[in-house]
Formats: sequence, structure tokens, C-alpha cells
Amino acid sequence: MDMKRIKRQLSSSTRTDPENDGFHRSADRKSGSNMVRLTSILVVCLMVLLILVTFGVIHRDPATDRARGVSEDLGFKANVQKDRIHRVEGGRDSEETAEKGLEDDGLSQSADMLKDKLLGGLLAPGFDEGSCLSRYQSVLYRKASTQRPSSNLLARLRKYEALHRQCGPNTDSYNKTVDQLKSGHNPGTTDCKYVVWISHSGLGNRILTLASTFLYALLTDRVLLVDRGADMGDLFCEPFPKISWLLPLDFPLNQFKNFTEKSPQSYGIMLKNNIINDNKENISAGSLPAFAYLHLAHDYDDYDKLFFCEQDQLLLQRIPWLILRSDNYFVPSLFLIPTFEQELSRLFPRKDTVFHHLGRYLFHPSNSVWGLITRFYQAYLAHAEERIGIQIRVFDTGTGPFQHVLDQILACSLSEKLLPKVALQEPSSSTAKRRLKAVLMTSLSSGYFEKIRNMYWENPTISGEIVSVVQPSHEEYQQTEKQMHNMKAWAEMYLLSLTDALVTSSWSTFGYVAQGLGGLKPWILYKPENSTAPDPPCRRAMSMEPCFHAPPFYDCKAKKGIDTGLLVPHVRHCEDMSWGLKVVGEDEL
Ligand code: GDP
Repeated sequence: MDMKRIKRQLSSSTRTDPENDGFHRSADRKSGSNMVRLTSILVVCLMVLLILVTFGVIHRDPATDRARGVSEDLGFKANVQKDRIHRVEGGRDSEETAEKGLEDDGLSQSADMLKDKLLGGLLAPGFDEGSCLSRYQSVLYRKASTQRPSSNLLARLRKYEALHRQCGPNTDSYNKTVDQLKSGHNPGTTDCKYVVWISHSGLGNRILTLASTFLYALLTDRVLLVDRGADMGDLFCEPFPKISWLLPLDFPLNQFKNFTEKSPQSYGIMLKNNIINDNKENISAGSLPAFAYLHLAHDYDDYDKLFFCEQDQLLLQRIPWLILRSDNYFVPSLFLIPTFEQELSRLFPRKDTVFHHLGRYLFHPSNSVWGLITRFYQAYLAHAEERIGIQIRVFDTGTGPFQHVLDQILACSLSEKLLPKVALQEPSSSTAKRRLKAVLMTSLSSGYFEKIRNMYWENPTISGEIVSVVQPSHEEYQQTEKQMHNMKAWAEMYLLSLTDALVTSSWSTFGYVAQGLGGLKPWILYKPENSTAPDPPCRRAMSMEPCFHAPPFYDCKAKKGIDTGLLVPHVRHCEDMSWGLKVVGEDEL
């Protein structure tokens, strides 16, 4: 929430204006005859107004109507703001003043809200709001981002939306290109080129690979089509105006879901078997396939990894259909491909905002997931002065609860002053109003949450703060094929992204999604080894960007191995995985 704006309004609505005061004072001194004249003019004006309204001749300004609609939609925002002001200023008077401030400046307020609602121009206007409440309502729950999308990115997104409208499912261009695909022949040039994203792996992984694939589509002028898998259509709203991103069910390559790194259609296999040759220039289109499967999952081999070479990108440009499977956030390695480097800098002058902007652009929870998010937020988080998120993901050893993991969470949160220390004795006096801190925990196990909640129930805090500890679910184990399980997982990632400070677990894409959407640099809990809490327990992340867990280590020009984490200052090894790569911003260079 933009507290500064509200404060400005508060002060302007209560400020005494010396000029106006002067006017009022001189008006008081005017003679009674002036008052009579003024009253007659007012009566005449009112009558004229009445006639105009009766005969419906007053012009309705569509812009004003739109603005009114926006301010009605955002009635809840005003309430949230009002509520926050009430808490911050601590009294009924300030609540009334705030309400007046919002009303006084109705129109400019709406224009500002319209800008907020579209996330600084990231989102296109004109979607049907009811079909996807989260798209325009996220602004009611999220703090405004400190990172503005660049004008180049906004222009690129609008251009992409136009391309998607022209080439999307069941358009003439789509039907034509599908016919060419069915014929098995690569015609050389097509109206539209596509990248089909295959739904694969846990939800956090899926969100990251989808964002990476969309960025790849932007960089290569391809249209992104999404395999709906079991539940993609139930979890997310459509991100592009007017036309779906879901791959039509009658798409001819139905077997693509079974493609693996060993399939003959795999780009790596075609290179390995010399079916295509990325060393040759001037290959005729006829000798290239009509489609290729790109295997970019963690188990990909050296041939698959040639995807990240410029030479191979030039070749792939000439294949109209690419089918891509990944479980990795492969954006950092796109920054190392010379063909893309310049465009990426234009789109993202702040390089560490790629997922932050693309994630907010693409991923809008469906109405059912939005219900899970908003009900939980309003019931348990809205009233706190501060919200802390703690995301716990235990790999390898089952979900726990484990004492060493609990010790690590507490050591990190207490030493970094995210959670207050507890006192051994009850305070001798109690102040009427205590600061409320809400701790949102997520984990497959309920054990950590119960222990921390009890700690703050059984003991007072040294700071005097009241700490509420909540956890939406404890699903015990990963159940990726279950719809409600994935809806809860998505809702929890989103709720974590609404917190003010975040603690995440190493290696977890679940946590990466939350930090990226929230624009937060989390404190990352180091991965425990040998069932021991690491010391130090955590460190602050360098950037809000996710980590690419399986990057290639190859110098395409020199054709030899190289440490790709040392090539450019803005692509570095990750904090939580020494061989991973992540994009960092200027402030970390
Ligand atoms: P990652 O494995 O941590 O990288 O994250 P993914 O999201 O890709 O896969 C883990 C999956 O396990 C999630 O998608 C959920 O299905 C489930 N899961 C893991 N942690 C949690 C949690 O804290 N809450 C819920 N609801 N599900 C979780």
C-alpha cells in the first residue's frame, strides 16, 4: 500500500489554506444584498440542472465513468487503506479524516489507482474483471513495487500481445502453420513461429520454466502456447488479452508429452546423430525439421545444452515449432547468449527484475485460488503491522519436523531480528496497544509452525510485540497430480509474496516464486548437512531472482568447458547452490 500518498492526502485535507481562509474572511464582510443575489443565482442554476437531468441531456463522459468504475472496484482498497491509517494513527478521528481525503480527491485518486491497478502499465487494460479478479485486485494486497518496468518492456509486451492475437490458437495463421506441421515439411518461412511449453514437475518449477519460456518467446518473436497438463487452466487466468495461451486440445503432436532426452525428435539427439548440423552455415530449410523437441530439464546432456549457443539459436530460428520441456529457471544463461544480450538490457535495465516483472505479468491466480488467498489474508494477515514469511522445504530426508531445522529457522529469524526474542518473565505492566507481527509459515509439515506458535503463546516477547503464527496447510507430502493440493501450493506461494520480509529454504523453487513476485531479497536458510543446523544458519540473497540449478558450463566459441558464473558481472553463482547461476542487479556489482 502506498502510505505516502495517503499521508499526502491526509495532510492536504486537514491543512488550513491561508488564501482560502482570507477569502472566507472577506466574504463574511460582504453585505447582505450580495447574499440575496447569490441565492437567486443558485436557485436558477439548480432549476436548469434539474431540467437537464430530467431530459437526460447531460453528457456522460466515458473517462469519468471509467474512473468511477475503478474507484468502485477499489472500494476494498480504500477500506484497507482506511484500516491501516486507523491503526497507524491510532484513533477514530484519523479514520474519518482519511476517508474524507479519499473522497475529496475522487478523480485524481482514480487515475492513480488505475495506474496502480495496471502495475505501472505492465498489465493491459480491458480484460473482463469478473473472470479473473486477481488481475486487477492484486494491487489491494501488495505493496507497490519499487521496480518500475521499463518503457521498452511495456512496448515489447504490447507487441507480443498483438502477435499472440494474430497467431494464437485457432486463428488463420495458427491453422495454416499447424497444417504445415502436419505435412512434416519445413517451409522455410511461416506467418508465425511457436514455442510450446510442456507442463512438467512441481508447481514452483512450472512457474519458473513458464516465465523462462515466455522470455525466450519474446526474444525470438515466437508465440507461447501452454500445455494445460492436469490443472494449468484451473490455477491461472489467461494472461494475454482476447485470445488463449492454452494449446488447443486437438494439437496434432499429441505424443509430445512423452518426448524425452532420447527421443529422435530431440534437438540434442538430432545434433548427436548428425541429422542436423549446427556447424554448417546456409543449411536449406528443407533439410531442417518442421519441429524440434528441446530437452532443457536437469538431466539434459551436452548436446541439449548447445541450445545456449548463439550458432544454435540461429539455426533454431528457422524451425517453426519448438516443443520445450524444462524444470529449471534458465533465464541466467539467456543473458550469456550474445544475440540476446542487448535486447535483454533494453528490456530490463535493472537486470535482476526479470522474474519480478514477467511473473507479475503472467501469473494471475484463478478465481478459486484468489478466494483461498484473499480469505486467508483478510482473516490472518491484514491486521498485522508487519508480516514475516517463513518457507520451509526439507529435501532428501522426508518432511520432518526435525529439531535441527527448527533450530536453524529460529537461529536465523532471531539473529536477523525478523522475529522478536522471548522473555523469561511476564512484564510487570501491560500497555494497552501492542504491535502485532504476523508470521506466515508454509511447510508440508505442521511441526515447525506448532512449535513456533507455542513459543509465542507460552512466552511474552522482550520487545512487547504480539506475534501471531499461522500456516495455511500441511499437506505432508508432494501430491502434484491433485488439483486442490496445487491450488493450495499456489495460494501459499502468493501469500508469502505479500509479506514484508521473507525467509526461504535453499534449492526451493516454491520460495523463489514467492521472493520474485514479492520483489523481496529473502534470507536463505543454508541447506543442512548431516542433520545439523548450519552455522551461520542463513544469509541475505543478492537478488530477488531465482537460481538456475543446472546451467551449462561451456564456452560455445572456444568449444571447451568454462565457468559460466565468471563471464559477466551480472550472472553469478547462487547463494544456495554453488554451481547454480543467478542474475544480480547493479547494487550487487
Ligand atoms: P520445490 O520442489 O521446493 O522446488 O517446489 P515445487 O513447487 O516445484 O515442488 C514442490 C511441491 O510440493 C509444491 O508444488 C507442492 O505441491 C508441494 N509443497 C512443497 N512445500 C509446500 C508447502 O509449504 N505448502 C504446500 N501447500 N505445498 C507444498
